[in-house]
Amino acid sequence: MIENQRIVSSPSRYIQGPGALDQLGAVTRDFGKQPLVVTDEILRDLFRDRLSVSFDKAGQPFNLVTFPGEVTRPTIDRLTEDARRTGVDLVVGFGGGKALDTGKGVALFLGVPFISVPTIAATDAPASFAIAVYDDHHFLSEILMLPRNPEVVLVDSAVIAGAPLRFLLAGIGDAISKKFEAQACHRAGRETPNGTRSTRTGLAIANACYDLIRAHAAPAIAAVKAGQISADNTSDDLESLLEATVLLSTVGFENAGLSVSHAIAKGLPMVPRAEGTLHGEHVAYGLLVHLVLEERPVEFILELVDFYRHIGLPTTLADFGLTGWTEEELDTLTANAMLSPSVKRFEVTLDQDMLKAAIRRVEDLVTGH
Ligand SMILES: [Zn+2]
Repeated sequence: MIENQRIVSSPSRYIQGPGALDQLGAVTRDFGKQPLVVTDEILRDLFRDRLSVSFDKAGQPFNLVTFPGEVTRPTIDRLTEDARRTGVDLVVGFGGGKALDTGKGVALFLGVPFISVPTIAATDAPASFAIAVYDDHHFLSEILMLPRNPEVVLVDSAVIAGAPLRFLLAGIGDAISKKFEAQACHRAGRETPNGTRSTRTGLAIANACYDLIRAHAAPAIAAVKAGQISADNTSDDLESLLEATVLLSTVGFENAGLSVSHAIAKGLPMVPRAEGTLHGEHVAYGLLVHLVLEERPVEFILELVDFYRHIGLPTTLADFGLTGWTEEELDTLTANAMLSPSVKRFEVTLDQDMLKAAIRRVEDLVTGH
């Protein structure tokens, strides 16, 4: 850990609003003359015409490549080689976390700026400098780091609202834990992704992230469900929620650190029956375990459980398909959670038995409530 320094990182510019996507071509003009958009085939088919108009209007060339769906080193290397030959000087990631991270990887190895355009708000990928790389079996193989966060994060709230609601909920799950993780990492004196102790900036932003979610998530979800969001119309609740889940969540954790919620989130998807569930859903459950480990009052935890139920986040292992979970599954979950460095970012030294006991307690509390 870097002692006696505070390092704060964040995207250089954050643009969010309904219809913001149509500005993309113009935004790229400030950063490169040969931009390359990296996306997947489904999004290419859905958005190619709209993107093309935006780039044409701005007088920017429109080049687009698709990636096969997983962020792997061979994919990143191949796209980087192609991009180098064509003189690409700016990469735009367009899509979910995997499209964004593939684009970041290409930008990293080309040594050019990166612009992030998320089409869902399910994780911290859009604003983060980290790149999660996987192997062909979809297991995390390495974390690469851009030298700085994206130059621009451009979020079209109407596009986000048009994606399946489950992604928006997962994004809330990934963000709501940050206040508690930041405080835990701070109390433990452990390192942030920037390699320093938790900064005051990160702690304050993680707090703000939580407050915004609690105030705006329910009405924002109601507005999305009611179909009230379009390129010409949005709601302050949704805009406030997205600021929290796309921007503040990332700036909070990069500058104040992660903790046990994310360790549990590493273990839960390793249980085979939980396949297909989302990172943000794992983090939401992980926070309940985290709060039990902190010995928070039962009323405090159950109030959060009520909030999860109200908006539609998971509260029990059964919600991940683990109905009648076995001791072996609990073993798998907690053994993998113990492998996460985030499990050490906690005031008390945790062992596997403590994680198991906390999960049992969450299950008892929630199912009896
Ligand atoms: Zn996360």
